[in-house]
Amino acid sequence: MTLNNSKPKIILSVDVECWGQSVLDRSLPILPHSADNVRRLLQLFDRHNAKATLFVLGKFAKTHPRVIKEAASAGHEIASHGYGHVEVFRQSPTEFRGDLRQANDVIASITGAQPRGYRAPVFSIRNDSLWALDVLADEGFEFDSSIFPFAGPRYGIGDWPAEPCTVKTESGHSIVEYPPTTLQFFGRRLPVAGGGYARLLPKRVLRKVFDRAAITRNTPPVFYCHPYEIDVTEISTHYGETPLRRRLHQGLGRRTFWSKLETLLTHFAGTTFSAAMSEIGAMPCKRIGGRESTTHTKPKHALCEST
Ligand SMILES: [Zn+2]
Repeated sequence: MTLNNSKPKIILSVDVECWGQSVLDRSLPILPHSADNVRRLLQLFDRHNAKATLFVLGKFAKTHPRVIKEAASAGHEIASHGYGHVEVFRQSPTEFRGDLRQANDVIASITGAQPRGYRAPVFSIRNDSLWALDVLADEGFEFDSSIFPFAGPRYGIGDWPAEPCTVKTESGHSIVEYPPTTLQFFGRRLPVAGGGYARLLPKRVLRKVFDRAAITRNTPPVFYCHPYEIDVTEISTHYGETPLRRRLHQGLGRRTFWSKLETLLTHFAGTTFSAAMSEIGAMPCKRIGGRESTTHTKPKHALCEST
């Protein structure tokens, strides 16, 4: 089956992990219901003839290899979310490289291929961890979607280009940085592409956000979600160990999230990073490290901001 070409495209991305283990406590086990949630998402994508990029946590893949194999067999792109879900800025470059390799080994043993793309836990490539792009490129990754181009309290780089660009690192490596979508609102960028924002925004507003992004951008906008966001009962299973503030933050909007996904997939054609990038072609180029400068390489879509 082919994608419905009459619908505007969005890149559909899923960070595949278990909520308790990744958000609450990394020492917790990866529970079976997290694999069930992934299967429900795969069925939904299949019903809408959508393809997605799954950024799979290595530890998750090791626990539930079968569902990752099913996703790959269904034509979804299997990318890496690292192994242990430790923020990049908490790791040394050597630790980060080890975490990448551990995840790659697990993923390759399931799919037979090294992942081309990476997304950091909690979008944790920031100004203080931009060295990670060099490590990623050195390890053979072709694209990254870890830098949220907004000035957030825990993550994000406020002046990072809002559309994808090719990053040239100080040591001469290249990697495409394809950031999650932000919305310009009264001069501020808001991270509306998924997660808590998408859970809380009314369905109609969320659709309008991506309508606007699809019209005003030169490249398909990026939506992201997690399998646990469709699970309305999960919070109560961790009730005793979850502080009230976190229960509210993580639980709000789960009840309506499924119908929001249905709406998005009805109006947009879900595609993968690799498929989108093969259509975009050459991108603006951003150099990092050393003397900051920006050059352009024959961009088909030249909105990369220079910083
Ligand atoms: Zn994560």
